[in-house]
Order: sequence, then structure tokens, then C-alpha cells
Amino acid sequence: MDNYTDRIQALLRSALQAQVDLGMGEFVVESPMSTRPAEVAERLSEVGKVVSVSEAFGASSAGQQHQEGIPLTQAATFASLTDHHEAICNCQECPLGQTRNKFVYGVGCPTADVMFVGEAPGAEEDRLGEPFVGRAGQLLDKILAAIDFSRDNIYIANILKCRPPGNRDPQPDEMAKCFPYLREQISLIQPKMICALGRIAAQALLQTNTPLGRLRGQWHEYAGVPMMVTYHPAALLRFQSYKKDTWADMKMLKARYDRS
Ligand code: SF4
Repeated sequence: MDNYTDRIQALLRSALQAQVDLGMGEFVVESPMSTRPAEVAERLSEVGKVVSVSEAFGASSAGQQHQEGIPLTQAATFASLTDHHEAICNCQECPLGQTRNKFVYGVGCPTADVMFVGEAPGAEEDRLGEPFVGRAGQLLDKILAAIDFSRDNIYIANILKCRPPGNRDPQPDEMAKCFPYLREQISLIQPKMICALGRIAAQALLQTNTPLGRLRGQWHEYAGVPMMVTYHPAALLRFQSYKKDTWADMKMLKARYDRS
């Protein structure tokens, strides 16, 4: 089984698990793996009863449709971010719990209207326990300041709360284990809009493998929350040419924020 298939199935399992947690026992799934619906059904049945696995492949993704069906206000099972943080900060659900120095929960305003989501902590974040504090974080702060935002009025979190060794990409099983934590954070914060920073965060939230270049520049939705996509600040440090597009994305975000 290829990595992409594994990843999509892991993300679907994570999304479906959230529905099971809410008391839903069966699902209808539109499978992105159109040639292997039986295989998808078998894997998903680890989570709950699969009513049908459609061979119809919609680019909008089944996971997103199902997630949109769950009001974020109902998805939250903790009273506050503080309670949630305390409940999960010793997590050992995936191997990264053994290798992290510090658990990196998130930072910012607990009632923020805008939430930025990256992929995973890096070395500095792992050392300090706060997301986006290395060179990329400093650049993010400058970008935020340019549109009159700061860590005091937005919220920043990652898909993964623990650093992948050597800053490698998050693995599908790690994201599947950790993604419900992010969903809970979003449920508690209830932002008016989300901005995914980089390909991995964008693809995980939207449950797609569409390249970042084709995702940015337009509005999407995550669980009913308007969502947009832009480059990860670390990519801007490597590729200056992304700055123009990133600035366009930030202006798009700010324009919607100002209208809201
Ligand atoms: S990365 Fe997420 S799932 Fe894995 S140990 Fe850390 S908090 Fe738990």
C-alpha cells in the first residue's frame, strides 16, 4: 500500500473516530481510493460499521463533508483549552511522545477569531514548548504584524504536538493519532477563519493531496469554518519567490477578517 493511500485512510479513520466518539455508529464513505473500496471498508471497519464505500471520488473529500456535519460546538468535550492541555500534555499515543523534549500545545488568544495551523514543532519549539519560535516563527510574527495581528489576538497550533526527529515530515499514523487534539482546540476556540501554513497542514485539514499551489488563493472550509492556505514561513526562508503569493494570501485573509 502506498504512502498516500495509507495517509488518506489514516485521516479518514481519525475523522470517523471523532464521529464514533460523538455516538454515531455507522457511516457512508466516499472513497478516494476508487479502485480499492473493499480494502478501504475493511480498514475503516476497525473504527465502526461502514454502511457503504462509494466508488465515486469527489475532489471535495468525504472526510470534509462528514466533518462539516459535526458542529464544532458539539465536538468539544473539554471546558477550556487549559483543561484540554492538561489532559493531553503527557500523551504517548504515538512514538513521538518518547522522543520529544517538550509538548507543544499552542499559543495565543483562547477566543481568537483567526487560527493559524502549522505541521509540527521544530527544534526550537521542542526546546521551548511553544509553536513557531525559531527563524520561521520570527518571520511569521513579522507577517502577522504586517496585517495588524499578533500572538495576543490570534491562535497558533500545529497538527502534531511533538517534534518529529530531525524535522522529518509527520507520518500518517502520527497525524491520525494527533489530529483529534487539533480538532478539539478548534472546537474550543471557535475561530471565524483558519489559515493553514504549508502543504502538510493544508492537506491534513482538507483531506486532500492537491498541491499547495493549487489550494492557495481561494477559500475552503474545515468543519464549516472558512479556511485558507498559504506557504509555511520556513518555505519563505528558503524560497524568496513565495513571498509575493504569501502577501497576497495575507491580504485576502485580512480583507475577510475586516468584513466579518
Ligand atoms: S505527536 Fe500527538 S499523538 Fe504523538 S505523542 Fe505527541 S501529542 Fe501524542
